[in-house]
Amino acid sequence: MPAVRSKKVVLQSVKGMHDIMPQDQPLWERLRKVTRDIGEEYNCMRIDTPLVEKAELFERGVGAVSDIVEKQMYMLKTSDGDRLVLRPEFTASIARAYIEHGLSHISQPVKLYYIGPVYRHEQPQEGRFREFYQAGFEIMGGDSDPVHDAQAITLGHRFLEEMKVGKVMIHINSIGCKQCRPFYRKKLIDYYKNQSPCRTCKRRLLINPLRVLDCKEKECEEIKKGAPAMLDSLCSLCKNHFRLVLEYLDELKFSYMLNNYLVRGLDYYSRTVFEFFTEGSDSALGGGGRYDYLLEMLGSKPVPAVGFSLGLERILMVVKARGTVFPARAKPKVFFIHIGDLAKKKSLSLIENLRRSGVHVEESLGRDSLKSQLSVADKGGAQFALIFGQMEAFEESIIIRDLATGAQETVLLAKLAEAMKKRL
Ligand code: AMP
Repeated sequence: MPAVRSKKVVLQSVKGMHDIMPQDQPLWERLRKVTRDIGEEYNCMRIDTPLVEKAELFERGVGAVSDIVEKQMYMLKTSDGDRLVLRPEFTASIARAYIEHGLSHISQPVKLYYIGPVYRHEQPQEGRFREFYQAGFEIMGGDSDPVHDAQAITLGHRFLEEMKVGKVMIHINSIGCKQCRPFYRKKLIDYYKNQSPCRTCKRRLLINPLRVLDCKEKECEEIKKGAPAMLDSLCSLCKNHFRLVLEYLDELKFSYMLNNYLVRGLDYYSRTVFEFFTEGSDSALGGGGRYDYLLEMLGSKPVPAVGFSLGLERILMVVKARGTVFPARAKPKVFFIHIGDLAKKKSLSLIENLRRSGVHVEESLGRDSLKSQLSVADKGGAQFALIFGQMEAFEESIIIRDLATGAQETVLLAKLAEAMKKRL
């Protein structure tokens, strides 16, 4: 019988998920830094929530008939039968944490920020992945004040400015509240009754009618043009809220565009919804809105809130396409060279002490020949070599060599950190 050859599986990252390789780390470091800096500048507190949550959190929060919950969640099988998922977004988790940890008892509103990966089982394509990173900001509690909507937009705008993505354009809409939205929904359904939208939209009209405005199918694009506009159906409170948000944006001199079709896919939004775009990018770099009902949907008393998240891979794509370079981490200016066994033995602890004293030093302890160590030092562009040989090891000293001039000085090990700090 012929042997059954097992098929060799080529091991690579899972479809729609990517490694972030060292050459991209300066850009990622910039994203992390901008997230942190803006978080601190605007007095937001950092929050981290688990990657894994109960499926019910998103079913109740994001909505059982949203795309995310219906089609995109990664469900985990556990031996005890818990229904757990990899988080498909952050806001519901943060709302859960706000309730669970009693954040309503501290001064309101509570401003929070986060950064981390989320998981959605979508069809991967340009700018659409299954694992992607989001950074976001949430303003929870206090009044449902339009100034907070404008403040959230300001934060996102500032973030994108700091990432130098080019001119930022805000698409904005209001999807009303519990009072006015049902009237609009009815108007929309009545209008669509006389149209022939795509099959998905026919279904959407039954379960989540506002989503027909999101549809990108050709036949639906045409139908959408004649659809009633939500802004004409807002109640006076929502109208006033939206007017004030726009007035704040005018004061800030932000470029925005009223977009009647912007509804966003998640159930928890109310009133203001917005997305960030930049020139030359068709897909949104981020989006968010007000979600005054979410915390109530999760079992708390009503807590008005507004927030947004940014898609970090999408921002990186724009940054790369624009050729923007952010400085990489500075390379060490000092290279440590050991010669001989005794010196090598003492090198590791010596280098450790130098690093702990704040001297950024590079080494190649795995190489023993002087020539090969010097060549590594050369490639790294070091300014100084620290040469530690047999004699120096006995005398507890070391040679500092200026690699540009060739000048050398021997110093005692006890004085080395100080001597290097003076030179750097
Ligand atoms: P959302 O949580 O759907 O409101 O998305 C917020 C932002 O995350 C979007 O504006 C995109 O920039 C980004 N984003 C959403 N889905 C994906 C995805 N599948 N792949 C990459 N980025 C995404």
